[in-house]
Amino acid sequence: MQHADFLITNSNALIGDKFIKNSTIYVSKNKIIKIDTKSHQNRDAIPNITTIDAKNNFVIPGFVDLQINGNHGALFSESNSVADFTFMLKPHLKSGTTSAFVSLISPNEKQIFKTIEIFEAANNTLGSQIVGLHLEGPLLSKYKSGIHNVANFTNSFSKVLINKLGELTSNFKVLITLAPEEISFSFLKRLLDKNIKIAIGHSKASFERTQLAIELGVELGTHIFNASEPIGGRSPGLTTSLLLNDKVYVSMIADSKHLHSATVEVIKRIKPHGKLILVSDSICYKSKEFKEIKIGDNIVVKKNGVLQTKNSQSQDAENFKLAGSAISLIDAVKICRDQYGFSLAESINMASLNPAKLLKMDSSIGSLNSGSIANLVILDQELNVMLVISDGKIVKHSRNISILDPLPSRDREV
Ligand SMILES: [Zn+2]
Repeated sequence: MQHADFLITNSNALIGDKFIKNSTIYVSKNKIIKIDTKSHQNRDAIPNITTIDAKNNFVIPGFVDLQINGNHGALFSESNSVADFTFMLKPHLKSGTTSAFVSLISPNEKQIFKTIEIFEAANNTLGSQIVGLHLEGPLLSKYKSGIHNVANFTNSFSKVLINKLGELTSNFKVLITLAPEEISFSFLKRLLDKNIKIAIGHSKASFERTQLAIELGVELGTHIFNASEPIGGRSPGLTTSLLLNDKVYVSMIADSKHLHSATVEVIKRIKPHGKLILVSDSICYKSKEFKEIKIGDNIVVKKNGVLQTKNSQSQDAENFKLAGSAISLIDAVKICRDQYGFSLAESINMASLNPAKLLKMDSSIGSLNSGSIANLVILDQELNVMLVISDGKIVKHSRNISILDPLPSRDREV
């Protein structure tokens, strides 16, 4: 076996859906090369290797967030460079989100082309934090627009844009959230043929149209129960289709504001848990500079930790609109465990393994396996983030976790 660069000993490691205590994880370069769940290792037994003593805290895969919209008072649609992307994603990285989508809120074609140019300039390698582009709109329903800029809404893309997005899929994942009633199915097929992942959201599609779209290859329902019609006795609508159709994944904004705990209970009882995905839908996170942000005609402000349109006075007000969130996935994981009654393993897998499976990237991200990218997070019992390793590099380190330099000795293979 190849030489390990460092070990994580005394790991309570999440392997599949179980935590296994006293596991040792061997990392070389940016890969996990072996996970030993049987024999307890200590530093003295394996000299010449840097050792991270996890002290039987939880060691889990890095999170995969399909929907981050911006940070520090700006949206990704205003970015000019990969450095802007990285700057906005950094607080998420330090909180354990080692894989993320740059998400655009109903951009116009010009903004999409500009963002594609930034992606093309990025020298993408498997393991980097930015894994894809998510266009949440502009192919949406004006009746379910949320805070999106309706002026940008359209029901088709130019041929040039479709081709450009198709080309981008050779290096990045491309995800589009659209309203299936606003577009033709021949256009939908053209997008799917280009290897683009399609989600349904901001839509008032019927149950039947949603079922057909899923048959054609739509794989995800974006932020279920938000920006959609309520379920009706004679109009089950898209939400019922997303709940009952086991082929499709659904994403949830688990910030305790977008979904009532009873609504989550409905989702939990109906949907196979492997098909649930947590997204942050974050607009600001750990950003001191955030005061307000303009999206379309809406001014979005933060009140008591909730992002909402400025004219909203209370949650009962007619004009109250939630506008994304101010969380990262670690917060959603905590809420799922502590308020929504999911097990810790399920909560973490909803933020790592399940989105990785949707992306067909689960052999490299979203789970702890030999051969996967070394994206690892250590959490204490309260789920505080103690250490984050991204692509084999330590990017956050709390003093409570000791990193021990190699003991001098001969080289040793593991
Ligand atoms: Zn949305």
